[in-house]
Amino acid sequence: MPLAAIIPAPNSPVELRVLPAPDLEPDSALLNVELSEVCGTDVYLQQGRLEGVPYPLIPGHVSVGRLNKIRGELLDVEGRALSEGDRVTFLDVHRTCNACWYCLVAKATTRCPQRKVYGITYGMNDGLCGGWAEQIYLKPGTRCIRLDAEPETFMAGGCALPTALHAVERGEIAFADTVLVLGSGPVGINSIILSLLRGALRVLCIGAPDQRLDAALQAGAGDVLNIETADECQRLEWVFERTNGRGADVTIEATGDPVAVVQAMRFTREAGRVVIVGQYTDHGPLPVEVGFNPHRDLNRKHLDVRGCWGSDFSHFYRGALIISDPLRSASWARMKLTRYNLTQANEALADVASGKVLKALIQPNRPPELQTA
Ligand SMILES: [Zn+2]
Ligand SMILES: [Zn+2]
Repeated sequence: MPLAAIIPAPNSPVELRVLPAPDLEPDSALLNVELSEVCGTDVYLQQGRLEGVPYPLIPGHVSVGRLNKIRGELLDVEGRALSEGDRVTFLDVHRTCNACWYCLVAKATTRCPQRKVYGITYGMNDGLCGGWAEQIYLKPGTRCIRLDAEPETFMAGGCALPTALHAVERGEIAFADTVLVLGSGPVGINSIILSLLRGALRVLCIGAPDQRLDAALQAGAGDVLNIETADECQRLEWVFERTNGRGADVTIEATGDPVAVVQAMRFTREAGRVVIVGQYTDHGPLPVEVGFNPHRDLNRKHLDVRGCWGSDFSHFYRGALIISDPLRSASWARMKLTRYNLTQANEALADVASGKVLKALIQPNRPPELQTA
């Protein structure tokens, strides 16, 4: 009878419930959760700001654990059978159909209308489908990856790793590019690390608060600017001073603030590229005072502006391989993590919402006497 943390309804605090152990369908499995993630999306879920969410809900979309029980056969993407006791993670997106117009014609599987996401669009009534629980039910067709990285290192990347990897791919960063990252949350920090791995000469980061900017520097950013101490003109000047008066070659927007979308265009050089990955939640239209000018801000600059929605198995798989490589994992391995047990889920959400912690993790079996650290 596993214990789970549940968001019963929008704007309600998280509650603990004991749920029945699931009956395993053929080719499904039960995972003992070691670590699950608390990210900005969970804050929005609690605030009821995402569409199509079936409350009550067990949050936690990216998790690591050990396979407790397998019924039938569970194969990885290489066709190798997974065994009980193996440490795995799994793609939170389930049921991408590979049969619809989006999958087959547009080849945009992250827009497949059939897809369901563990911890977001699977609710409690779909079973143990979120990581803030002692166990997760891995439905048939869930794509597992055997994990070689330390669970903490992998979770330091967490859901931000495939998201940022997708954004960096969309940015088509070239060798020696100067990349500007707007936002210093987990997607921003992962974008810094991956941009450098992709060959960027230098990454600039504009964000807040200071401890997140310290994390950006530690991740390899060449220079950082606190958004709270510089207005838009000063930010523009700061970027132009560092790019021979031209602006960044590629800008990745990872903030969640609609105004940052226009600023991303303004801070990018002519004929440069802008990737928008931070607008996962609907924050409404741009305020009029932003003064978005399609001629000056976009067309005349000959900008390439690209949206970036979600991630697919390739991003998750490539991310897991990169973070498992000892030569490349150092930036993640030294990232500061803060752990909470299931009873501290509300505290974890509050700390993520306020930006007090960089990366919050739920550790369901963490003894309650251990304080968050
Ligand atoms: Zn589809
Ligand atoms: Zn997330």
